[in-house]
Amino acid sequence: MFMQISPFSRSHPAPLVAALLVTLSGFLSGAGWPQYAQASQAAEEIPMLVLSGTLEAGSAVLLHVKGAPEGSRLKGKLNGHAFPFDDQGRALIALDMRTKPGNIPLRVTVTTPNGAKHRLAKTVSVKKREYKVERIDGLPKKKVSLNKEDLARAKKETASIRATYKLKGGHAAYGNGFQMPVEGRISGVFGSQRILNGKPRSPHSGVDIAAPKGTPIMTIAPGRVVLAGKDYFFTGNTIVIDHGDGVSSLYSHLNAIHVSEGNWAPEGTLIGEIGMTGRATGPHLHWGVRVRGARVDPLMLPGIRNRR
Ligand SMILES: [Zn+2]
Repeated sequence: MFMQISPFSRSHPAPLVAALLVTLSGFLSGAGWPQYAQASQAAEEIPMLVLSGTLEAGSAVLLHVKGAPEGSRLKGKLNGHAFPFDDQGRALIALDMRTKPGNIPLRVTVTTPNGAKHRLAKTVSVKKREYKVERIDGLPKKKVSLNKEDLARAKKETASIRATYKLKGGHAAYGNGFQMPVEGRISGVFGSQRILNGKPRSPHSGVDIAAPKGTPIMTIAPGRVVLAGKDYFFTGNTIVIDHGDGVSSLYSHLNAIHVSEGNWAPEGTLIGEIGMTGRATGPHLHWGVRVRGARVDPLMLPGIRNRR
């Protein structure tokens, strides 16, 4: 193997370190010369930031650093907040639904295996996003104006859901994008100002998909089941799946839950069934997505947004 790279490194001394590293990794993975040739080309490129789509308020995109030599260390910040990369050099970056219009800096530092540093930057221009007003009438009165007991219970349940939004690390499983959990009519859009039985409530932080009771619901990406809550006051039977690095998905009002807390749910796992448990006027899935606390429109996730 060393015989193969020595003629090259004599005429190009600089890539020697990279060549040795890549050759070693090629040796370990059982691959040889072709991998080396590919990576040495990449080492000569200037890395660049590539986004899977337009980043706007209430959306998420996959960020990929094109041309970063294998083994590079990547560090990123969006609007001053650090975000992690997966082991393939991909990151899911997001802006909350209430992000103010303006220019937001995206910065990535690439440190190559031979110690070279590339500082990459992009400006994300955030426009004002208009959200609908949705009126929902006919909810049972006790589900809108809570008595003391129900309020205490609902608070506790909401806190257990919120705790999952603070999870960090875990196995990063968002890099291949996402898929729909169920097909059906969109009966409630993301971000809308909700007026329930005539009373203004907090904005709708997910999307509602109406489908017949019992329709199977799949996980939108591989992940760890971190919450399988029974019969919550608002959200009924509720699941939260952690896709790693602070990316999670919430599924509520389920008729049945088919997973348990702690389970690993591979891609396409059937996790539950459509229902109308909790505060609901008909069978539907309320589906929410958080990316390190940011409320993201599930229909704008990579892998999903382009099919609509
Ligand atoms: Zn909803």
